[in-house]
Amino acid sequence: MALLYQSTKRSEGRARFDAAVMGGTAPDKGLFTPVSLPRIHPREIAAMRDETYPEIAYRVTRALLNVDIPDSKLHQIAQASYNFAVPIQGFEGGKYVMRLDQGPTLSFKDFGMRPMAHYMNYLNSANGGEKGFTILGATSGDTGSAAATAFHDLPGVNVVILFPEDGVVPLQRKQITTLRGNVTAIAIDGTFDDCQDMVKKAFADPDLKALNLSSANSMNVGRLLPQTIYYFYAFAKIGGSKMSFAIPSGNFGNATAAIMAKKMGLPVDKLIIAVNENDEFPLFLESGVYSPVPSSATKHCPSNAMDVGHPNNLARIAYFYGGTMDEKGRMEVMPDLAAMRQDIYTISVSNRRTGEVMQEAHAKYGLLLEPHGAVAWEGLERYAKATRIQSPIVALETANPAKFPEEFDRLHMRAPQHETLTKIGELHEGFLRQPNDYGIFKEFLRGQMRRTGVL
Ligand SMILES: *Cc1c(COP(=O)(O)O)cnc(C)c1O
Repeated sequence: MALLYQSTKRSEGRARFDAAVMGGTAPDKGLFTPVSLPRIHPREIAAMRDETYPEIAYRVTRALLNVDIPDSKLHQIAQASYNFAVPIQGFEGGKYVMRLDQGPTLSFKDFGMRPMAHYMNYLNSANGGEKGFTILGATSGDTGSAAATAFHDLPGVNVVILFPEDGVVPLQRKQITTLRGNVTAIAIDGTFDDCQDMVKKAFADPDLKALNLSSANSMNVGRLLPQTIYYFYAFAKIGGSKMSFAIPSGNFGNATAAIMAKKMGLPVDKLIIAVNENDEFPLFLESGVYSPVPSSATKHCPSNAMDVGHPNNLARIAYFYGGTMDEKGRMEVMPDLAAMRQDIYTISVSNRRTGEVMQEAHAKYGLLLEPHGAVAWEGLERYAKATRIQSPIVALETANPAKFPEEFDRLHMRAPQHETLTKIGELHEGFLRQPNDYGIFKEFLRGQMRRTGVL
């Protein structure tokens, strides 16, 4: 039986995988979420012990998607998406770090983005889509480079990424602007919010319908499903009877995937959700009152991919706990707070503490963390101390330390290097510059439609 998807706003309609993935968000502006999840039998989980990451990925996605995408294709996608290492480092007292920082863009976003690109490409061609589709997105960092890299060179796909001219660090910009091929990068003379507004207008613009615009943002359920895989992988490789995870969170896609893995039968003990100074979630869990923060008022932290004042996947977490949240963050039906508190331990980590943890983890364990991973590690340490827990805890390192040389400099630590980044530094950039003007951007898109023959 195929999994069905429902909007987090719980309107009547159910969608199948292709509509949920190609559509991005639900017609009522909620997020597509699986109505129920398949259970993976303990015997199957045990069999993962001797399997590679792509083999485990195949097992998990087969359980989730076997009617929507043929087996042989799922197998191929798993192999093509995960052609890099997923190291797990162990430390005293049952503490572990799983490094999700070895993909092509050195961020954990590769784990969801790469299979999603293949799913979309498959679904488009299976539906007779000779006209292809265009991935449109705005970025201030990791998401844009992971999306552009995942869709790079896929036939029939166009990628257009907007970024604020002065709002992206050079290394991250280069991860987008040096790809070329089917990827067009546009520097906008404006802020990230301006870029985001232009993208939203384009999605709503009937004149651009022929472009088949799709989004690769964290609301797309196609990114979420494959993020359940690494939780199974960690459990299979480390063993034990149950396991806790410390997850550095911004838009809470990663945390939502952990909740899904638990619903699929993974023996998850505690989910430790660690955030930076943007602490609306810990405050919510404590007080029961959710107060989202507008994006103009979010705090700037060294773990900048988590500078989020209203995590968009919180609507999915509320859904899984029986609640209903609208797109503005209002709780129409309160989720089961007692159950959430039972499953989730959450903390906010200050900017100062984040730097100290990077130093302490390195001095004490020889463990190299960047700011996002440090936030997770602090969650692990605090929870371990508070509970004297015996079962393993795995902290997720979501970006490669080599992406944060300024942070290491500031802390008087030696900045690590990575050859992917060294190589990118030598490549030639290619991008367009445009003013903050929707009319001009739209003309550009229509020009692209004429060139590719859809207009
Ligand atoms: C996106 C991102 C996060 C936050 O992940 P969510 O799923 O949005 O909570 C954490 N760390 C890094 C490095 C990221 O790029």
